[in-house]
Amino acid sequence: MKDLAKRVWLVTLAALLIFIVYETIKTILFPNLSVISSHVITVIVVAVMTFFVSRYALGRYSLAHDEIQRQISITEDSNRLLAGVLATMREAVIIVDSRMRVALFNDAAARVFRMPLVEGGGPVAQSGGKDSSDSRKRSDNPVAPVSFSLPESNREYRLTDVTRDPAINAAFSRVLANKNPAELKVEMADRNQRSFQLHIAPLGKDLAVGVLFDITQLEKLERVRREFFANLSHELRTPLTAMLACSETLISGAADDPANRMRFLETLHKHAKRMSELISDISDLSAIESGQVELSLKPVRLRAAVAEVLVLVESRLTDSGLSFSVSIPDSIVVQADRTRLEQILYNLIENAVKFNRHGGSVKVSAEESDGQVCVIVEDTGVGIPASDLPRVFERLYRGDKSRSRKTAGTGLGLAIVKHLVHAHGGELSVSSELGHGSRFRFSIPVGAQAAEQTG
Ligand code: ADP
Repeated sequence: MKDLAKRVWLVTLAALLIFIVYETIKTILFPNLSVISSHVITVIVVAVMTFFVSRYALGRYSLAHDEIQRQISITEDSNRLLAGVLATMREAVIIVDSRMRVALFNDAAARVFRMPLVEGGGPVAQSGGKDSSDSRKRSDNPVAPVSFSLPESNREYRLTDVTRDPAINAAFSRVLANKNPAELKVEMADRNQRSFQLHIAPLGKDLAVGVLFDITQLEKLERVRREFFANLSHELRTPLTAMLACSETLISGAADDPANRMRFLETLHKHAKRMSELISDISDLSAIESGQVELSLKPVRLRAAVAEVLVLVESRLTDSGLSFSVSIPDSIVVQADRTRLEQILYNLIENAVKFNRHGGSVKVSAEESDGQVCVIVEDTGVGIPASDLPRVFERLYRGDKSRSRKTAGTGLGLAIVKHLVHAHGGELSVSSELGHGSRFRFSIPVGAQAAEQTG
């Protein structure tokens, strides 16, 4: 500004000097010039000079104007970019000012804290798209050149309006006061019981930015992992303890007693077999989970695959007095790995037999729609408690009843089935009524040949 005033003075002085020189030269060169002619010449000279000076000034002004426009468009572009990034971020972002007012929040934060979103994708997206006068108005904001705040149409939020959690409020005021980042775990007491890791960092002179990472899924996986190892050691310890006891009894004399020897050896064999099944299921599951199992997908006639499995469970069906019915049109062909499809069917049918009541029934049916075949295995057995339903597909999960009834099984069957169904591009689900039976349903793509015929 000072520089500009100096320039104005200099230009005025220069104009005065030029005018004095001009008058002097004119008087020397044309001493007898009439007043009118002198004025006419002066007007012409002034007009010519004004023309050149204005042209020069306008040129400079237009350059400056172009530069300002360029800067404004860069700022607008970065605002739009930042707004887009913030709006599409999965992490919730919230910026709080020194008076604990919410200066900015993105769509994810609006969802987490249940703040109303304004039209056009939320406050961030709107302020990002606003005109340049808006950004200029806020040029004193320390987050310049990109600065947002809630649009005028939106009401002003204080952090205490947004969250009642005293820990979050205290952490933001600490960061604003000390200018040191903070980190804390936050539990949202909503229907979904979500957990977040909140990172707060100072931003500029008097703002603090908080980013919330949703760790609900991570915590769930961690719980499943912990339970898996707890269950695994339990599942291994039981047969091992029995095997140790049997072998010790045999060593301490029972081996010489022909009547007892056979009994202990059979028990030993039974538990060794169970351990071997468990280990083979675990390695099978981990191979499927890590994608090491290659599926050889071919058109398979579903009815034939079910018939193959039926042979394996036939004796147990008779022992338990169960009736078995199949309702699968002969024309249904699925695109599957035959061995793995039979493994899926075997696990589901075996469970339907194992968890049934004496004299009950097992039914396998299938129907085709929209390029998928939906297979249903239902039984009239013990059923699964509603609280256990979401967990039946977890590794080593065994319902309490089945554990106490000592049914044979590793608790890995359904986890294997789930992964195999997913590997075939299908979905697996279960519904059950305690005491009345269960219904397992999985989908699998229609076989290539069948699709060609129907298409
Ligand atoms: P396993 O059968 O070896 O115990 P699964 O993974 O196949 O392991 O099944 C896990 C648990 O789910 C079973 O222990 C049982 O509690 C429950 N379950 C599975 N299928 C049925 C069924 N058809 N009826 C009742 N409960 C079932």
